[in-house]
Amino acid sequence: MRRIISGSIVSYSQYGHLKIPKEVKTKCPMCTKNGRFTLKVNYQANRVGLFSEGICSECKELSSFVIMFTDYLGNTSEQAELYIYDQRHPLQQIENDTVIPDDLIRAYRSAINVQQSKDNSATAVMSKRVLEGVIKHFQSEPKQGNHLAEQLEQLPKHVDFTKPIVTLSQMVKPGSHLNKILELEHELDEDMAELLVDLLGGLMEYLYILPSKMETIHQQMNQRF
Ligand SMILES: [Zn+2]
Repeated sequence: MRRIISGSIVSYSQYGHLKIPKEVKTKCPMCTKNGRFTLKVNYQANRVGLFSEGICSECKELSSFVIMFTDYLGNTSEQAELYIYDQRHPLQQIENDTVIPDDLIRAYRSAINVQQSKDNSATAVMSKRVLEGVIKHFQSEPKQGNHLAEQLEQLPKHVDFTKPIVTLSQMVKPGSHLNKILELEHELDEDMAELLVDLLGGLMEYLYILPSKMETIHQQMNQRF
């Protein structure tokens, strides 16, 4: 489940003393576009919350929502919290990403599909195609005849891997909005707090999770052979 920030809730309806989200704009789990959902609430409420459904304005597919009563969560706010069932595969998260070339997305999708259908040699073939696709994307003319390893070695010359950290350093410069938030000179609202934690998550992933995943998988593969 993914929480929907209050800034994405377009309108509310009244339910007893509670304000219940009525219309929301959020990323649709089915088509990944920013869809508009009018929530049909099932008023068979329990102590915790309400179940709800809404149809995406973009793809017309149904998604499920949960409205949690915040007083149950120890919060006295009269607004309810809204969550959407979103069990997207990482693939669907990147599919609408225009930065990634279509053929690379197709190769990645095929790699996942063949792995799920336990076609192991096809998985190897498609995995190689994904790696080649990444190289081709960043190096428009990879040196022909160069081994995959040599081409990957060249990648840092074509991609600025320091960019996320350089951007972060610009974001926290004295006088910047983020700097004022961190120094408690600007008040942080709920939506901004969520963005901030999202930023930390991305940073952790970039600095720690990916490097440690590389190490672990490298070791596991070495142990197998
Ligand atoms: Zn949709």
